[in-house]
Amino acid sequence: MRFGFRRVAQDGLARAGVIETPRGDIATPAFMPVGTAATVKAMLPESVAATGAEIVLGNTYHLMLRPGAERVADLGGLHRFMNWPRPILTDSGGFQVMSLAGLRKLDEQGVTFKSHIDGSTHHLTPERSMEIQALLGSDIVMCFDECPALPATDTAVADSMRLSMRWAARSRAAFGDRPGHALFGIMQGGVTKDLREESAAALREIGFDGYAIGGLAVGEGQDVMFEVLDYAPGFLPEDRPRYLMGVGKPDDIVGAVKRGIDMMDCVLPTRSGRTGQAWTARGMVNIKNARHAADPRPLDEGCACPACRGYSRAYLHHVFRSNEMISGMLLTWHNLQYYQDIMAGMRAAIAAGRFAAWEAAFHGLRAEGDIAPL
Ligand SMILES: [Zn+2]
Repeated sequence: MRFGFRRVAQDGLARAGVIETPRGDIATPAFMPVGTAATVKAMLPESVAATGAEIVLGNTYHLMLRPGAERVADLGGLHRFMNWPRPILTDSGGFQVMSLAGLRKLDEQGVTFKSHIDGSTHHLTPERSMEIQALLGSDIVMCFDECPALPATDTAVADSMRLSMRWAARSRAAFGDRPGHALFGIMQGGVTKDLREESAAALREIGFDGYAIGGLAVGEGQDVMFEVLDYAPGFLPEDRPRYLMGVGKPDDIVGAVKRGIDMMDCVLPTRSGRTGQAWTARGMVNIKNARHAADPRPLDEGCACPACRGYSRAYLHHVFRSNEMISGMLLTWHNLQYYQDIMAGMRAAIAAGRFAAWEAAFHGLRAEGDIAPL
């Protein structure tokens, strides 16, 4: 069975569809929880699936350093290693080399860097990134690209984008023909429309199974990101999935879907869950605040997750204050459930042709803010 993408409904620019893979279908728009080091932190794989997630993301940079791609392959591949039989998307390692590794040296061939774990030297190229992602057994493989640190001059952004496009062609050649597996190209070009258009044209010329928009959500602010998303998705083929990398907060996600994005990923729901922050239909709740200490009500009465069904705000406050592990487990579950509920809500609204009404209700409830203290 081959990789495929079907669009099933469209409302304005918002699209609903299905990505088909041999490991299962993924309803879009889809949010992908991040499983950095072969685990979605604080969650069992079956719990991740119970929230409605149909695909998770793995990080090439982390897995190549520890435990190593060859070891994962020897142990049966990433799906078996982490006990997640459903689809996995892996990033290329490029972004995290830039953000985490030490002593980087970039040239036409690739990047040489030192591991942030033990200082050992590694070399990553488009060809090696494709090899690592194949060893992991990733279902959706990302091209190796470079994302310039901001702020950067127009010339620097253009040079970086053109290097990424040459690397995209090398990634395509190295990926080869792997039925059932997909390779996505990554559009770069910063916040400059001409560069985004040039990048998209270069990717379409090469030809990919799906297309990502990279280089956003790196500190430019939501207004600027939405300005880019007002035109960038339109440069990409309509009949392939569009993936916005590293986004975002709930309102970022809704705004991106409204502008034609099909897939997203972000560490925010999992990371926030471990620091006592819960995302709810009424906005963000800091469970550490004293106002929750004696509150018998659930975190979010409209949520069906275990944290909201079985526990009070007072309990969630207590276990966070006590540094109990269950705190991160419950809040992570809740946050992932909330994100998946947003995605399901948008899919249903797009199918019913009432996305605008859904979006108005989403913003309306958030504007009301959290329930009043008792
Ligand atoms: Zn919940």
